[in-house]
Amino acid sequence: MRIVLLGAPGSGKGTQTDAIIARYGVATVATGDLLRAEVAAGTELGRRAKPYMDAGELAPFDIVLGMIENGLKTLAQTNPKGFMMDGFPRDLAQAEALDTLLARIGQPLNRVLFFDVDYEEIVKRLLGRGRADDNEETIRNRLRVYEEKTAPLIDYYDRKGLLRKIKGTGTIDEIRQRIETVLDDVG
Ligand code: AMP
Repeated sequence: MRIVLLGAPGSGKGTQTDAIIARYGVATVATGDLLRAEVAAGTELGRRAKPYMDAGELAPFDIVLGMIENGLKTLAQTNPKGFMMDGFPRDLAQAEALDTLLARIGQPLNRVLFFDVDYEEIVKRLLGRGRADDNEETIRNRLRVYEEKTAPLIDYYDRKGLLRKIKGTGTIDEIRQRIETVLDDVG
């Protein structure tokens, strides 16, 4: 199984990853987590990415792509069940780069899950979360960047027939069941 979780920050993708991993045995690649680890470790890459993260902007393409290439290489060797991507791709250039990478290894995506949550609910959730980059100014910018750069991927994947919309409101359990409905038939 090779899937992408798509949705605004705060749409609940991260909350569902454990359940998806437990049920399908996939490994997860979350670029936000990888970037935060680089920042925490004080690496050169982390130092480069931090100002973008603090501002709610996308980190540079080369940094993120390098992390994904490394992550996929490791995953291909360690997890035969496949992978789930959270927070990547985040714009058209990243989506095309991912397609190219996966085509090269003959392992295209099977599904893209779009977590559909309306705007007011997203803002409410993000303000309640309290992460370092969750202050109001950054949140507003992250949502703007999402609308402008990431939201076009909904259409991009829909055209490829890969998109499945998951209603992202309700209990964690209800959302998990909706996810199972669209993933249980993927090999
Ligand atoms: P996230 O945990 O996915 O909300 O990501 C936190 C921050 O990391 C984002 O606001 C971006 O600054 C950066 N980031 C995460 N994933 C990507 C990506 N695929 N491309 C560029 N920047 C990213």
